[in-house]
Amino acid sequence: MSIADNLARVQENIARACARSGRSVDDITLLPVTKTRSVEEIREVMAAGYTALGENRVQELMEKYDALAGAQWHLIGHLQTNKIKYIVDKVSLIHSVDSLHLAEQINAEAAKRGVSANVLLEVNISGEESKYGMQAGDIDRILDAAEEFSNLKVKGLMTMAPIWANEYEIRTVFSKLYQIYIDISTKKYNNSNMEYLSMGMSNDYEIAAEEGANVLRVGRAVFAAE
Ligand SMILES: *Cc1c(COP(=O)(O)O)cnc(C)c1O
Repeated sequence: MSIADNLARVQENIARACARSGRSVDDITLLPVTKTRSVEEIREVMAAGYTALGENRVQELMEKYDALAGAQWHLIGHLQTNKIKYIVDKVSLIHSVDSLHLAEQINAEAAKRGVSANVLLEVNISGEESKYGMQAGDIDRILDAAEEFSNLKVKGLMTMAPIWANEYEIRTVFSKLYQIYIDISTKKYNNSNMEYLSMGMSNDYEIAAEEGANVLRVGRAVFAAE
């Protein structure tokens, strides 16, 4: 199977998940995750029409940024404050803001460069200790603080289901974050806007689509035939 075939198969699965849950495929963006993949492989993804791409390491993103013109990069992995300066003007969306401190530092670095950073708040719904992500109870505090930011906009929420979770537990995590996303959507915040709900990876993107995600971060299922 070629990468183009894999992408088509993932899109078919998304379409079926949409049919099951009464959603429109047009509301869902498949974000191919290119970590560890070569520039040649990524060119195949872009040739198939996907130019928004997810990377989880700053170093790798920077290397690929130089090699692949025309891509819109999403940083999906943990971001250390000392690395913000390398990517703040190179990424279209940072999915992994997990503390007020990180948000403040991104805002400050974006201001220095005269850019506006778009971010998602990464939420740890399952409470699993080893995982990155803020507690759901911390979201409001960050949205309140973000009202004062001049160079950062919160565009939505992101989560990862725990790797050990069964389907029921995964669904519970995703539906909880969806509910939070909807609740926040009804409120009015300066600088925050619930546009993106980033949930689902190769093993659970169909569940995420059924539970309301509109950005699916899919790596292995795109690059390696199953
Ligand atoms: C690697 C990664 C993905 C994609 O994982 P696959 O299992 O390869 O689909 C999604 N989100 C994050 C944050 C990742 O690091």
